[in-house]
Amino acid sequence: MFENARFLASSNTVSRLPLAIRAEVAFVGRSNSGKSSAINALTGRKALARVSRTPGRTRQINLFEIEPGMALADLPGYGYARAPAHLRNGWHSMVTEYLHGRPQLIGLVLVMDARHPLTPLDRQLLEWLQPAGKPVHALLTKSDRLSQAEAARVLNSLGPKLAAFDLPISAQLFSSRTRLGVEEARQRIRDWLASGTGQAPGIRTMQRKTPG
Ligand code: GDP
Repeated sequence: MFENARFLASSNTVSRLPLAIRAEVAFVGRSNSGKSSAINALTGRKALARVSRTPGRTRQINLFEIEPGMALADLPGYGYARAPAHLRNGWHSMVTEYLHGRPQLIGLVLVMDARHPLTPLDRQLLEWLQPAGKPVHALLTKSDRLSQAEAARVLNSLGPKLAAFDLPISAQLFSSRTRLGVEEARQRIRDWLASGTGQAPGIRTMQRKTPG
């Protein structure tokens, strides 16, 4: 499934994203969290998602089809400290539009650097996702930068913190460099896609409730 990934479309306007997708899993995370590298590792491709030289530059939603009718969506990274205000506002409105206007979305992969997971912006994002009730799977990336014991401690201490959010959330360690956790993450995404494809788009509705 993942090895057949191909670039499908790129847009900063949600209504222009292809409608021929039945089920979609979106990747979100801070700039520089390792999101592009994670998509590349999951699809077994070196440069499907562009690994950013300049954090905070990508302002588009990129779609990669991994099976006919099934896609991964790479959402722009957030929290780039030097991003000008109009870009930050642009991020907010684009992602709001995406969350409300893309019924194909069945789950979100939240990419966080294992060395500093659950930053205030990650928390804000999770709070903001709560009304939609879509499941979230957290990838703790760059876990190769931690010892095994440290990584296990991070994962264990994160469990109760994530459980405090009113959302179905799971988490795992991940490394694009060593490929740790690639199969586990693929399985989660496969399960979501398999369970989501029987649904006609538009069945799930969202409350319009977002911060600021
Ligand atoms: P994005 O901005 O979230 O898409 O992050 P990128 O995928 O562009 O990665 C940001 C930086 O982190 C790059 O320098 C990557 O080489 C590095 N990086 C990404 N994943 C890993 C990983 O699993 N291990 C290590 N050690 N570095 C990583």
